[in-house]
Amino acid sequence: MPAERLTRRRLLASAAVGGAALAAGCGARPASGGPARRVIVIGAGMAGLGAAAELRRAGVAVTVLEARGRLGGRVHTGTELGVPVDLGAAWIHDPDGNPLTTIAREAKLATVPTDYDRVALRRADGREVTDDELGAADDAFAAIEDALAAAAEDAGPEDRLAPVLTRARARTGVRGVVRATTDWALGTAIPLDLAADARELSLDGYDEGETYDGGTDVLLREGTGALIRALATGVEVRLNTPVRRVERSRTQVTLVTAAGERLRADGCVATFPLGVLQAGTVRFDPPLPRAARRAISRLGVGLLDKVLLRYPSSWWPDDVVQLGTVGAAIGRTVSAANLQPVTGAPILAGFVGAGYARSLERAGETAMTSAVTGRLAAGFGAPAGRPVSFVATRWAADPWARGSYSFLRPGSSSEDRAALGTPVGPLILAGEHTSIDRPATMDGALVAGQRAGRAMARTVAP
Ligand SMILES: Cc1cc2nc3c(=O)[nH]c(=O)nc-3n(C[C@H](O)[C@H](O)[C@H](O)COP(=O)(O)OP(=O)(O)OC[C@H]3O[C@@H](n4cnc5c(N)ncnc54)[C@H](O)[C@@H]3O)c2cc1C
Repeated sequence: MPAERLTRRRLLASAAVGGAALAAGCGARPASGGPARRVIVIGAGMAGLGAAAELRRAGVAVTVLEARGRLGGRVHTGTELGVPVDLGAAWIHDPDGNPLTTIAREAKLATVPTDYDRVALRRADGREVTDDELGAADDAFAAIEDALAAAAEDAGPEDRLAPVLTRARARTGVRGVVRATTDWALGTAIPLDLAADARELSLDGYDEGETYDGGTDVLLREGTGALIRALATGVEVRLNTPVRRVERSRTQVTLVTAAGERLRADGCVATFPLGVLQAGTVRFDPPLPRAARRAISRLGVGLLDKVLLRYPSSWWPDDVVQLGTVGAAIGRTVSAANLQPVTGAPILAGFVGAGYARSLERAGETAMTSAVTGRLAAGFGAPAGRPVSFVATRWAADPWARGSYSFLRPGSSSEDRAALGTPVGPLILAGEHTSIDRPATMDGALVAGQRAGRAMARTVAP
């Protein structure tokens, strides 16, 4: 979930490694003196590393198998632009009470708060969106959110977001630039924040999940990869080891890797992303229970892509947090975050989402970058179109992610997330898609992984 969502409060104040081999009996021996139990965790992202840490704590020998040549999964800090920038998850949302805040504090990671109130919006002819126009758009946006919340009270899983949104938008009666600004805010809240178009979402999916105790969202100066490094300390990870098949008996699992190795363990926590489960590139033998299979096909996998742009110097005001050119259709909203305060370099993170991002991914990195710089240049002028370097993500094309994060499609509900996280003998699935309180976040994935790790430790206890 990016930190792009412009809530009423936000608009209102807007003034302008590894590689160790799996050895038999490599783990700790329980205090009881019984046989050592071994668990394999699949995936070295937030969920997998969270599960591995809990298993180690319980004295269970654990090895993580990771398909990629790096840790982190959808948490990936790159240095292509000369400084650390997050290509996947970036913000710790609701940091007060968020377990990632504790990890960041213990690892002494520097954080930079993001004050969403500082937005710079332009019309496509370069004129500024004025405070009065922002205020009117804020009222319209708030009225739409209220209408969605009221409708959601009596909604069932089959109810769709799109028709309620269409009616609520029409009821605001706003026109011209105020309407365009309201739509930009809806664009940040729907295709960019939820990574899905309105027509793909259930009504309940608009406001899914819980918050902790609030606080201002933060970025990490070193990037979120630093959280992964902290979590991975002491964990045995085999990189470049894709799992193709998961076989299970009542008490054991056998994982078959792409290289044809067969690895046996007393239990397995598998954190394949939902997109990978939907793609069917991993076989389960016997198949997963019906409720889990139904959940896999019902839940949605959204797409948020980033275009990170480094400029010769910043052409935007220092104190601005978000920039955008209003006037595009909601689905084609482009928003940019100012990363100068966190990176110390003139870098913006541009965002595109959902169907628009899918078509741009297909068109290629240059087309994706031009779409973002072109949109910014329309409002802010030619310098916005002249970055010196850029990186564009392609999370849908990534075979180990196949999308950015999950969402509720019409017909699905949080019961599907629960069904996916329910243990199946010696196998437990985990990941952001199994989190009911915090789906689509790093912390939701971490907590889901930790929960699965604790449950697995009880399952394999002698
Ligand atoms: C662009 C973007 C922006 C985001 N922004 C934020 C944000 O600001 N804040 C926030 O909290 N969250 C954000 N998220 C969401 C967050 O990144 C995810 O919810 C979270 O990282 C998911 O963790 P996970 O462990 O469930 O899955 P993953 O991180 O995907 O981990 C699964 C692991 O399994 C591996 N794997 C896959 N298939 C196989 C296989 N066959 N064999 C072996 N290994 C395999 C993968 O390589 C991966 O390492 C964002 C995500 C994206 C893509």
